[in-house]
Amino acid sequence: MKERIQTKFQTLFGCEGDIYASAGRINLIGEHTDYNGGFVFPGAIDKGIMAAIKVNGTNKVKAYSLDYDEYCEFGLNEEDKPAQAWACYVFGVCRETIKRGGKVEGFDCVFAGDVPLGAGLSSSAALESTFAFALNDIFQNGIDKFELAKIGQSTEHNYCGVKCGIMDQFASCFGKAGCLIRLNCKTLEYKYFPFNPKGYRLVLVDSCVKHELASSAYNKRRESCEKAAAAIRKNHPEVEFLSDAKRIWLDEVREEISQEDFIRAEYVIGEMQRVLDVCDALERDDYETVGEMMYQTHFGMSKLYEVSCEELDFLNKLARKYDVTGSRVMGGGFGGCTINLVKDELYEPFISAAKEQFEAEFGHAPKVYDVVISDGARKL
Ligand code: ADP
Ligand code: MG
Repeated sequence: MKERIQTKFQTLFGCEGDIYASAGRINLIGEHTDYNGGFVFPGAIDKGIMAAIKVNGTNKVKAYSLDYDEYCEFGLNEEDKPAQAWACYVFGVCRETIKRGGKVEGFDCVFAGDVPLGAGLSSSAALESTFAFALNDIFQNGIDKFELAKIGQSTEHNYCGVKCGIMDQFASCFGKAGCLIRLNCKTLEYKYFPFNPKGYRLVLVDSCVKHELASSAYNKRRESCEKAAAAIRKNHPEVEFLSDAKRIWLDEVREEISQEDFIRAEYVIGEMQRVLDVCDALERDDYETVGEMMYQTHFGMSKLYEVSCEELDFLNKLARKYDVTGSRVMGGGFGGCTINLVKDELYEPFISAAKEQFEAEFGHAPKVYDVVISDGARKL
């Protein structure tokens, strides 16, 4: 990829650029915990965005997307927002850097990537963090890494129309090879944990479906969580978010909240504990326990939180059948990928069965992405 990018950069701009890269991400466990002030547990992956960049002495950005084979030129003022969606990510990062007092002048760039778009691996965060990191380095702005992640998040909010949380950009800025990062979404404290599953592979199976239910269901789940938290708060004023609550505190309010709100809250409180259990297990190199927790999360998302779907439950069941160590739906639900931790020797039989049987059942093949936990934003 690096050579393709440099070659194009030479052709367009007559020299070589400096090479920067960043990564997409997975989240091993900790789903629907972010808006409940709980933990998520992401890591950067070996699929990302790479860009060649060089200051050009003008006040214009000249950007070329290799994957779309499109060129775009834009200024750095608010009214210069480009027409192409992909260019808005680059423009947004420039603007958000400037808004934070950073210096950004015109530059030339060529970039490409290998994160599948819209598959739940956050190609957009990879793109934002590549440029946020690069501009910070090139213009010596001294912006800290957390703020670089926020530059990416604000880019989505203000220039791409996506009201996302901080996890994706955080993972892609802070990612380190062989490490997952537990992020506390309330305090933003984070901690690295080793993730070196020797003898196992991490593989995503993409159902390639997205059910319409997703956004209305999401709002309803949030409401349930807020209601449960409010009921618990009456007895335990320290509960700001549902994730602050102990399981027994939920039992105390069982009669006061609806059965539906109760099981939603049961999932969230359970999921908080599972993240902690997975972290403990990783410190012991105990990947079997990690896998079991992933299955428990799937069960919770399917039966308690009710954000799974037929296709994802099918893939999860198949994983069990083929002795996959851990498997669960990754992301908000109602479609997208399952994330699977599978022993090397069971990989082939599982993946061929998943492809064949899923297609027989649903009429289209799933996509398969192998991932390795790798470095996030960096200069090469
Ligand atoms: P994801 O879940 O992968 O982040 P999004 O819809 O949030 O999906 O972001 C995908 C968008 O990000 C693409 O439509 C495109 O505008 C931009 N993008 C991501 N990767 C690339 C790439 N390699 N080249 C150009 N644009 C990209
Ligand atoms: Mg995205």
